Amino acid sequence: MSQHRPTASSAASMDESTIAAFRGHLRGELQQPGEEAYDTARKIWNGMFDRRPALIARCVSAADVIQAVNFARTQGLLVSVRGGGHSLPGHSVCDGGLMIDLSPMKGIRVDPVRQTVRAEPGVLLRELDRETQAFGLATTCGVVSDTGIAGLTLGGGQGWLMGKYGLTIDNLLTVDIVLADGRLLCASECENEDLFWAVRGGGGNFGIVTSFEYRLHRVGPTILGGMILYPREQAQEVLSFYRDYSMNTPDELSVVAALFTSPDGLPVVALVVCWSGSLAEGEACLGPLRQLGTPLADLVGEMPYCQLQSMLDAALPPGMARYSKMGYLPHLEEQLIKTVLDHTAEMSSPYSMVLFNAMKGAVTRVAADATAFPHRNPQWHFDIVAQWLDAAEQEQHSAWARGRQQLAGRR
Ligand SMILES: Cc1cc2nc3c(=O)[nH]c(=O)nc-3n(C[C@H](O)[C@H](O)[C@H](O)COP(=O)(O)OP(=O)(O)OC[C@H]3O[C@@H](n4cnc5c(N)ncnc54)[C@H](O)[C@@H]3O)c2cc1C
Repeated sequence: MSQHRPTASSAASMDESTIAAFRGHLRGELQQPGEEAYDTARKIWNGMFDRRPALIARCVSAADVIQAVNFARTQGLLVSVRGGGHSLPGHSVCDGGLMIDLSPMKGIRVDPVRQTVRAEPGVLLRELDRETQAFGLATTCGVVSDTGIAGLTLGGGQGWLMGKYGLTIDNLLTVDIVLADGRLLCASECENEDLFWAVRGGGGNFGIVTSFEYRLHRVGPTILGGMILYPREQAQEVLSFYRDYSMNTPDELSVVAALFTSPDGLPVVALVVCWSGSLAEGEACLGPLRQLGTPLADLVGEMPYCQLQSMLDAALPPGMARYSKMGYLPHLEEQLIKTVLDHTAEMSSPYSMVLFNAMKGAVTRVAADATAFPHRNPQWHFDIVAQWLDAAEQEQHSAWARGRQQLAGRR
């Protein structure tokens, strides 16, 4: 539903009575430029986008979403849909059209007996984790806690628990979804199956989801997690180890490799781990990792699951400008690692980073055509993230991220 082209009118040319009538049909607020909360509501995580919708409908219910969709369709407006606002390419905010802002929709209901949770599309990962962890339960979510469940789920949803429990979509049971014609449908494995297939990985292209229901699992309350940091000079050895270790350990272990600059300006490589099984078995499984190289710091230990879920937040704060290139790597050959390291050595901003995330276990045991998310082979998800503070520096930092197209384009 993101970024439909305007067909007839634009909100700017709409008369006040039409807007007032729309406002009267909403339970949530309708904001326009100049109003107090407008500038806060139009901000998204990626500071590269400073777009100005003509109207922001801050929906509080499915009925508000239906009103907003019907209004946009009948008025021929450009539409953007905002959940948690973490769209890297800025799809959740538009210029001149109607922004359908779902962030006030925060309802969460855990059923500890059925081990399921139902959540509305304005919920952030940390909010979902907090409610489910109150019952010792969790489902696969991403690794930065202020990401929205909505966009994350619709894109597949990778996270620390995916080796054991699959992607977020592999735990999705039902959605309620408002279609472009304003009808609200329920989709699941046994109802509107095609639509359910499409929303599991197909993004926001099929309608606006107003409720997600997920399967939960016993997790925590503590897990074994954290990071081990090495100086960049050891990166070839660390990444070669990572290639074999990250794919050949039990499903309970997830390992992310990250190349970045430490807050005191040191180029480092980190292996960040999450072991979600028994703590004693986890210690044994981490043994080979603890023998590796000469670390600067070993910060792996027992911690609350929610603490691990927010551990990377500080490295990816809202507001900075970003440009990212990502892809999937079926192999991590020595030459490829060397190419990555050469590229990282040319990093143009101290806030930028390169990340690898091993996709193995339960993720790879789902057929490629079972959902709209087809990347089901054992492989590494690979992300080159350029981040910078001064908007005027866009060209140089995005050029760095694009600099190894042959990596980002690989499948
Ligand atoms: C810092 C950061 C960390 C990340 N970490 C991970 C990770 O660990 N794992 C992972 O899998 N992904 C990760 N991502 C990617 C993230 O999942 C996507 O950017 C996701 O789209 C963000 O969802 P959102 O609701 O926050 O974003 P939004 O910007 O609100 O929405 C993203 C897209 O989904 C559409 N959309 C939002 N809500 C709805 C809805 N209810 N119905 C229909 N369409 C909707 C929007 O229109 C937009 O196109 C990360 C992204 C960032 C920026």
